[in-house]
Amino acid sequence: MDLSIHDLVKRFGKLTALDHVSLEVAQGSFVCFLGPSGCGKTTLLRVIAGLEEADGGSIRLGGSDLSAIPARNRNFGVVFQSYSLFPNMTAARNVGYGLECRRWDKARMQSRIKEMLDLVHLADQAEKLPSQMSGGQQQRIALARALAPDPSALLLDEPLSALDAKVREELRIEIRAVQKRLGITTIMVTHDQEEALAMADLIVVMSKGRIEQIGTPQQLYREPATAFVADFIGRMNVLPLDPGPQDGFRFAGTQLEVRTAAGGAGKPVAALGIRPEAITLKGLDATGPNVLPASVRTVSFLGNITRIEVEPDARPGTGILVELHGMARVPEPGERLNIDISAEDLRILS
Ligand code: ATP
Repeated sequence: MDLSIHDLVKRFGKLTALDHVSLEVAQGSFVCFLGPSGCGKTTLLRVIAGLEEADGGSIRLGGSDLSAIPARNRNFGVVFQSYSLFPNMTAARNVGYGLECRRWDKARMQSRIKEMLDLVHLADQAEKLPSQMSGGQQQRIALARALAPDPSALLLDEPLSALDAKVREELRIEIRAVQKRLGITTIMVTHDQEEALAMADLIVVMSKGRIEQIGTPQQLYREPATAFVADFIGRMNVLPLDPGPQDGFRFAGTQLEVRTAAGGAGKPVAALGIRPEAITLKGLDATGPNVLPASVRTVSFLGNITRIEVEPDARPGTGILVELHGMARVPEPGERLNIDISAEDLRILS
């Protein structure tokens, strides 16, 4: 069922944690709420779950209003950051907990528990206590427990953030595979942009209680609408325009050619954005519309890429990141050269 959130407001005293938030979550999709600490993403998830009451706005699931329905009757499966399993119950009993509460008969419950343990590949751990399992296994049990009563949606609050990097990556793939197999609508809160890019169909980028931008991972990477989104998703050089009146885009004393389809959306232009991989290093004799003389500040070899920081001659103090892939010739710190900023890849940021 589609989840429709309209004009949600949530205040804690004087603080507005959700400031008129509206969004549509399509049936079967995987949506990430992404943003820095304190942006309101957990509050939004908790309001959807019914764990927090909104001060205004509405939430509808498949057309019916959820506001009067208490959390336990909303039929959402919830997984939190900390494992929150019952420590004195085996994995199997944890998975069956929601079914016991719903008074499923024993045979049906046993078969569902087995099905859920198989789904998360932990059938062999059924009799273990949480303390006898790894963090990753405990989170998979928490996922199985949330899914057992066949919820209408799955709500995940930073479910991977307590795990180490390798387990986190494995579980990303596993959660996404389970979600696809079941076709269950899923919302996951995360502050980790890489996690959101890797897992989501749609990312909702939040800042200060508001939605900054909603888009697919590709859309947000290629067409960030604001400097905030550009900076939060991947790495983006933000080029502030030269002060003073201008028609067009002047940076570091050069009129830059911008050949981009989207961006700005009628708002005042704050800056131009360019990804590090969209800048080419050229020799001192290079010419062209977006070619700027610069010098190399630092060079970091990172294996498959080399990250180089350059400083344009006309903007001393401004570092611009350039990424070279593969075996390209790497310049030396201090070397003078030209940077060529791709007009197609320049983005207008508001
Ligand atoms: P984090 O990643 O750190 O959890 P977040 O983006 O999930 O951050 P929220 O937890 O939604 O942010 O909090 C949004 C704002 O609301 C914060 O300023 C927070 O301090 C405040 N807040 C959240 N819950 C409460 C509460 N129960 N009482 C008072 N203020 C709260």
